[in-house]
Amino acid sequence: MKNSPLDEDPPEPDVGAIRLSAGDPALGALATGKATLVMGGEPVAFELTVPAGPVAVEDVLPIFQGLASLFAERAAAKAAAGGRTVSCRAGCGACCRQLVPIAAAEARALAALVRSLPEPRQAAVRDRFAAAVDAAAEAGLFDQLTGPGERRFEAGLDYFRLGVACPFLEDEACSIHADRPLSCREYLVTSPAGNCRSPTPEGIEKLTLEGDPSLAVLKADLRDGWLPLIHALVFDETAPPSARDRTGPEILADVLGRL
Ligand code: SF4
Repeated sequence: MKNSPLDEDPPEPDVGAIRLSAGDPALGALATGKATLVMGGEPVAFELTVPAGPVAVEDVLPIFQGLASLFAERAAAKAAAGGRTVSCRAGCGACCRQLVPIAAAEARALAALVRSLPEPRQAAVRDRFAAAVDAAAEAGLFDQLTGPGERRFEAGLDYFRLGVACPFLEDEACSIHADRPLSCREYLVTSPAGNCRSPTPEGIEKLTLEGDPSLAVLKADLRDGWLPLIHALVFDETAPPSARDRTGPEILADVLGRL
C-alpha cells in the first residue's frame, strides 16, 4: 500500500473524502489535512484531523481504529462479492480467548477506557483482568508473555489453551466493540465460527486485508514492542509515561507510511 504525505494545508471541503478524526479541540489545536491511500490498487481520499502539537501515539489512535475497520469492511465486501460470507457475528466470542497483541498506545487507551467505566462495571472488568493475569502466572506464562524472550509466540498459544476469556468479553460479545483493539478489528474469518475455538491452519480461513494498521502502529510505537491485552492495566500503572515527542501529523505520517 502506498499513500501520499499528509497535506496539512487547510483543505477545501472534499465531499467524497472519508473523514476520520482524533483529538479533543478543548485540549489543544487540531490540524486537518488530506491524504490519499491506495487501497487494493484504488486511490481513496481521506480528510484526517489530528492534534496539531506534540502528543502520544494513543492520542491519534482513533484514526487507526477507523482505518482498521475500513480495511475490514472492504475485505468483507470483497469476500461477499466472491461468494464468501464472514462468519464473525455479535454474540460469537469464539476467538476472544486468544492472546490479543496490542501496542503500548492501545494499552494506554484501554486503561483509560477502564478508568472511565462506572462502578460496579469497572470493578468487574478489573477483576477479570486480574484473573486473566493470575491464570497466566499460575501456568508459568505471564513472564514469557510480557518479557523479551523468544518464546512469546509459543507462550501465546499456550495461553489460548487455558481458555481464559478476554476481560472485555460479556455474554460472548465484545463489551467495548467501538473501542476494541486493532487486531480484533482485523480478524475476520469465513470458516465456521466454531473453528476459532480450536484454531488450526487448516480450519481457519482468515480474510487478508489490504493494509495492516495494527502492525503499522506497533512499528511506529516500537519503543515498547507488543503487549498481551491482559497486561494493559499493569503496564499502564507501572510503565513510564508515554513519549510525547512527535506532533499528531508526524505520528500520522509515520503510521500511514508503514501501511
Ligand atoms: S477486545 Fe473484544 S473483540 Fe477483542 S478479544 Fe476482547 S472481547 Fe474479543
